[in-house]
Amino acid sequence: MTISTLHPDRVELEQIDLYIDGQARPAGSGARYPSDDPYTGRPWAEVADANEDDVDAAVQSAHRALNGPWGDLTATARGKLLLRLAELIEDNAQELAQLETRDNGKLLREMAGQARALPSWFSYYGGLADKVQGSVIPLDRKDFLVYTESHPIGVVAAITPWNSPLLLLTWKLAPALAAGCTVVVKPSDYTPASTVRLAELVTEAGIPEGVVNVVTGFGPTVGKALTSHPLISKIAFTGSTEVGKAVARTAAERVTRTTLELGGKSAQIVFPDADIEAAANGVIAGIFSASGQTCMAGSRLLVHSSVAEELVQKVVERAKTVVLGDPSTPTTEMGPLANDRQYAKVLDHFKWAVEDGATIACGGKPADGLGGYFVEPTVLTNLPKDARALTQEIFGPVLSVMTFESESEAIEVANGTEFGLAGSVWTRDIARGHRVAGKLRAGSVWVNSYRTVAPQVPFGGFGQSGLGRESGIEAIGSYQETKAIWVELSGETRDPFTIG
Ligand code: NAD
Repeated sequence: MTISTLHPDRVELEQIDLYIDGQARPAGSGARYPSDDPYTGRPWAEVADANEDDVDAAVQSAHRALNGPWGDLTATARGKLLLRLAELIEDNAQELAQLETRDNGKLLREMAGQARALPSWFSYYGGLADKVQGSVIPLDRKDFLVYTESHPIGVVAAITPWNSPLLLLTWKLAPALAAGCTVVVKPSDYTPASTVRLAELVTEAGIPEGVVNVVTGFGPTVGKALTSHPLISKIAFTGSTEVGKAVARTAAERVTRTTLELGGKSAQIVFPDADIEAAANGVIAGIFSASGQTCMAGSRLLVHSSVAEELVQKVVERAKTVVLGDPSTPTTEMGPLANDRQYAKVLDHFKWAVEDGATIACGGKPADGLGGYFVEPTVLTNLPKDARALTQEIFGPVLSVMTFESESEAIEVANGTEFGLAGSVWTRDIARGHRVAGKLRAGSVWVNSYRTVAPQVPFGGFGQSGLGRESGIEAIGSYQETKAIWVELSGETRDPFTIG
């Protein structure tokens, strides 16, 4: 793929192909669909629309690589190749970020920050590749030596959403490759461009062809064909809870291993002793950055009644000055929503908030005169407990405010959701910070901060926010099977009719 220019007025459309066996190629049927630039609302690319045969070709390619050149490498050799890939991504980070901004409309500075962070995951897992050790297990008997080995789980289907395509892919790809697996990626139909470019860099790094393949197209066709393919041993999925459940049902048919990173409705809890200025900034970061389109968005603000007016006023004042516009311009603070479907969903929520009796403290409508899929940063107050803005993931820049009187009430309300992805506690009381963090049912909790991630730190959700964890040392284990090997030492014949 050569993306020669990213100018919005460019007339000819970029062609985004599949990537199979170390090569870009069109879909077997020749079918393509248009992909919109969310800033202009106009198509900028045509994407190959794969069918079942393309998916099969990609999986077969990954299977051949697993049982061929990739499977033959030592863990140390795999690790070195991941370090080389990390360097190449670093060299190409700006281009990757531009592709992502073009596809999903998020700020170039946000996507560039993410692209520059990707190498740290590849170098972390590259370093880890040859440090996964089995163990010799002491038994209460002398006639056996027992030890364990870790084996690559097999061919992995990596399915990603549109909001942070490469970061969320990297959380799967880096540990999967370190573990010795091969991968077929199905990026979101809205945002395939950066993933195909990354696959090219994988080949450029010297990783054998077929180790990473990309099939572009739609979930119900390409995603379904991939997740139900008999040669897929593991599905690593990030997306909505609804689709995650469908993927889990498909996986159950073949007992395919799964990790699921799903939706959220995370709470930011602000106590009266908090640094209110810092809390306001954290609340803004949690809900308006990335136009609220992050799984860990702090979409519920739980604030003690004694400081509610002061905090909400600060957040509303800042929300009104958020600079909306071209996501590629450095001064822009909020870009458009990523696609027509997401735009329609957020507009529905504005309507429902009014129907449910909420007060709109600011926003609550499309942003005038900007074209594209822009909405205003929105703050909702006076919400009844069952308001849809409090119970459903909106995935947009919409903050729902609630007040509380006591610590126990704050914890109960924060945990009163089927989700459990993230949360935060804002307080100057160190004991309270730890206490409340420990009681929140969420996979990540920040104290006096929000929205930080790192390769070394596990990420994932409680409840309907997911299954399993990505990042951290343990994540490599979710791409491996443990084998126990028993070696008979006595040389004696055993009773064939007893166990043990
Ligand atoms: P989505 O669930 O609509 O789609 C996710 C991916 O699944 C896409 O690639 C899609 O094409 C594919 N898909 C759809 N139907 C499928 C099927 N039947 N079989 C296989 N694949 C199928 O999600 P989205 O709208 O792209 O992304 C937004 C969602 O992702 C939000 O709910 C958000 O919370 C979640 N998300 C979670 C995390 C996390 O780490 N927990 C991170 C980012 C986004």
